[in-house]
Amino acid sequence: MDGTSGGLPFVWAPEYRMDIGPHVFPTQKYHEVKEALLGEGTLRSEDLNRPEPALRASLVRVHTPDYLEKVMTGRFLPADEARLELPFSTELREAFLLSCGGTTLAGRLALANGRAAAHIGGGFHHGFADHGEGFCLLNDVAVGVQELRTEGRIRRVAVVDLDLHHGNGTAAIFRDEPDVFTFSMHEEQNYPLVKPPGDLDVGLEFGVGDEGYLALLEEALPRVLDDHRPELVYYLAGADPFVEDQLGGLRLTLEGLRARDRLVLGMCRDREIPVATLTAGGYARRLADTVEIHCNTIREARARFE
Ligand SMILES: [Zn+2]
Repeated sequence: MDGTSGGLPFVWAPEYRMDIGPHVFPTQKYHEVKEALLGEGTLRSEDLNRPEPALRASLVRVHTPDYLEKVMTGRFLPADEARLELPFSTELREAFLLSCGGTTLAGRLALANGRAAAHIGGGFHHGFADHGEGFCLLNDVAVGVQELRTEGRIRRVAVVDLDLHHGNGTAAIFRDEPDVFTFSMHEEQNYPLVKPPGDLDVGLEFGVGDEGYLALLEEALPRVLDDHRPELVYYLAGADPFVEDQLGGLRLTLEGLRARDRLVLGMCRDREIPVATLTAGGYARRLADTVEIHCNTIREARARFE
């Protein structure tokens, strides 16, 4: 259970593959990533950890009572659904409660083995304290950070958010919390229009490719890891900086994204900082590319830490 006995511990739940109708967000990716990695032996079924739904006591450390009331009773107005850009359902709520529990669990597993754990799920960084937006009903990253900090396991955390989109919800939630460092590298001229400042924001121009991206990342990461000295990193390894992404304007290749993962995981390993990887976004024209990018993150996590 603590992941020290061999393989890379990972978290996944079948409920992540939910029916949201025709939508750009491919919820079947979670199942496909899990199947591919088990099939090739990168992950072992005995290292699978099934999450529990997050309890209200954990959620209320991040989300307002009014918003939680709305989520738990399902009284979503059309305007709320429009901002969320997802149809509300009890199935959706269940998946997000599990995501919050799953990200917490992945952080706990990484701390237990001192190296790494992977969540095939999570990274819903557009969730705010008082509302959900951009496919993010609840902010699992913030819930995980606060749960582990409240348990007293850790104090200082860094969120390394390399999804294509700015981590607006996470930045806003931790704006006044100096122990939680939020780093986001994203496409500047893209959703969200308003980007509440995090501790370090690197906004990229349309069309940035592997070389430019990796150079900026290599320069930024020491500021996150050496200046803040986190005891745990949550790494949002979004697949949407990919050149073929339908929502993004960056031009990273499969190889460039894998080099990105290697850079983050390698720098954390060199400093002996445990990392929990989260899948976050990914909307490639071909689902197989999104799946491959997420698989590569977890392949790199295993290679770096075993
Ligand atoms: Zn994204």
